[in-house]
Amino acid sequence: MTNILYDALIAHHAANDNPFLDCDDSTKLTYAEFVRRVAQLANVLKDSGVAPGDRVVAQVPKVADTVALYGAALQAGAVYLPLNTAYTQAELSYFLEDAAPRLVVCDSKDKAALTKISASLGAKVLTLGSGDAGSLSIAADSASDQFETVPRGPDDLAALLYTSGTTGRSKGAMLSHKNLLSNAHSLTKLWEITDSDRLIHALPIFHTHGLFVAMNTCLLAGAEIRFMAAFNQDAVIEALPNSTILMGVPTFYTRLLDDPRLTKGICANMRLFVSGSAPLFAETHTAFFEQTGHRILERYGMTETNMITSNPYRGERIEGTVGYALPGTEVEITDPDTGLMVPVGDIGMIEVRGDNVFKGYWNMPEKTAEELRDTGFFITGDLGVKSEDGRVSIVGRQKDLIISGGYNIYPKEIEDALNDIDGVLESAVFGVPNSDFGESVVAAIILEQGGSLNEREIAQIVEPLLARYKHPRRYVTLDALPRNTMGKVQKNILREKYSV
Ligand code: ATP
Ligand code: MG
Repeated sequence: MTNILYDALIAHHAANDNPFLDCDDSTKLTYAEFVRRVAQLANVLKDSGVAPGDRVVAQVPKVADTVALYGAALQAGAVYLPLNTAYTQAELSYFLEDAAPRLVVCDSKDKAALTKISASLGAKVLTLGSGDAGSLSIAADSASDQFETVPRGPDDLAALLYTSGTTGRSKGAMLSHKNLLSNAHSLTKLWEITDSDRLIHALPIFHTHGLFVAMNTCLLAGAEIRFMAAFNQDAVIEALPNSTILMGVPTFYTRLLDDPRLTKGICANMRLFVSGSAPLFAETHTAFFEQTGHRILERYGMTETNMITSNPYRGERIEGTVGYALPGTEVEITDPDTGLMVPVGDIGMIEVRGDNVFKGYWNMPEKTAEELRDTGFFITGDLGVKSEDGRVSIVGRQKDLIISGGYNIYPKEIEDALNDIDGVLESAVFGVPNSDFGESVVAAIILEQGGSLNEREIAQIVEPLLARYKHPRRYVTLDALPRNTMGKVQKNILREKYSV
């Protein structure tokens, strides 16, 4: 019997004594040990009443058993549903009611709260601790390390992954075995990941980046993972000399750049730095190259589609672009009004088709119908442009597009101009309602440390560079931009705050 994803990622490691996980608490697991642990956890899932197709929620700390729980859900034919550990109780109620899981696994410290929410839904609660072992781990310790794998086909669901909620309420993306495996194959091949690699894993594992891009590629290839509970600057610096790959969000790289210990010497063994989830500034790319001799490889993707494009591993990596469509994935740029392809070089909606594209939004057939065309193309909501040779650059989200006096204004163009000013660290440009123009442009500015520019001086520098209708009507200086855990700027928060 086959189980597409479990067989490809886990089953074939049963006799593999190579190291797999190297955790902060010095827990080390070989691949063979991992396969046995997965089976033990799968037995606990089954004993807890989890049947094929049932959702298993995991709101858990980043420990070795968390990875094994993901594997166990696959082996038991369940649908894995990881949740951000930062979610509040009110947020959790939404996810649990929406997903109706059979089992909820949470941090021991959250047990009381989750039991309360889960009781009305008929879901069982088990715990997985960071401080203590947790009831799931304890039950697994005495369970059999053999489990009869539940068969699963390409279109069966493997995961229900909620989007980050950057533009509104998070939506559950239904991801099949085929979706996840096809993308893992593409990335592993393109980035040449093998069992000689050692990846520094400092991302959360409740998003597509840390869970699927990082874990699935390493599992497929049999690579080792230095598994960190969170991004810890000292731990990353310490791990660099004997690692080969780092996958990160742009903030990892800006923080590392501030560290004088980041040198060419400690990166000598590294072969790949990947960035995604949010735009990587060209300055970061260039500064990182100067300091380490490595060009960060930027890729683009989202919860609904896994990865879509990547800069080449062997060819030229161009800052400010997210590279070419992955093999087996088609990217088209279309007119948001007509859905027709725009001429090469024009800005339009990024649409994507391929085995990587999800099966639709959970419980949202109307939204699915709006965004997933009959032709199989998914309307991503991101605006971009494709060059003659197929390289994609992201211009921003359609929801962030500002329409003022009938003109389309792309915040990124204004942000680029602002960020180039000496003394400006970063900026976020957004639209607020305006009775005359529909919307007007507001710029939030973060000054460099010790910077003393005032808002008038900034306006004087930037305004000659941009057409008048693009000029911010208001500047606000902030200490930091509101960001979520993946480093994405939350413009909806800014819009709300500065709409009068
Ligand atoms: P929601 O859909 O709930 O509003 P979200 O879109 O932020 O949240 P994710 O699926 O986690 O949720 O993020 C995907 C988005 O992240 C993409 O649509 C894109 O806007 C952004 N993104 C990912 N990689 C890059 C990149 N390299 N450069 C710029 N933006 C990126
Ligand atoms: Mg989205």
